[in-house]
Amino acid sequence: MVAMSKGCYKMQRGKEHGLDMLYDYDKLLDRLYSRLPPKRSMSAYDLPVLQIEYAGTHTVVRNFAEACDRLRREPRVVMRFILRELAMPGAVDERGQLVIYRKVTPHTLQQLFTRFIESYVKCPTCGSYDTELHRRKGKIWIIKCLACGAETFARPI
Ligand SMILES: [Zn+2]
Repeated sequence: MVAMSKGCYKMQRGKEHGLDMLYDYDKLLDRLYSRLPPKRSMSAYDLPVLQIEYAGTHTVVRNFAEACDRLRREPRVVMRFILRELAMPGAVDERGQLVIYRKVTPHTLQQLFTRFIESYVKCPTCGSYDTELHRRKGKIWIIKCLACGAETFARPI
């Protein structure tokens, strides 16, 4: 009899303890979520779309610096790729806009930008866009994937 009541007591205490733990777990989760940094991983759906304008005979990519930033790539590198492919002169201005000294259609520019992403951003191993471009000794370019850790050689631009 004594042993049984002891058992009941233990069970009850165990239950209470369990509830406490559940409550704490919820609280912990809430705290965890409120502290998580904003999500940075990127899917194919939120790849940057270029905002293109024309100034006379010049083509201006208004959000160029911002788009490169999203991809963790230096605007200079992306610019070199685009200008080389177009075989046209251009520059990145002080506002971070890419100015091409010729007329280029939005379609052509967006296609080139996508090609840059495919060759210099996307991880060939897992398909993630969360990657960094590392240059070793200037001549060796490596795409380092932040999602799977794979390192892939890329052709220097
Ligand atoms: Zn990967």
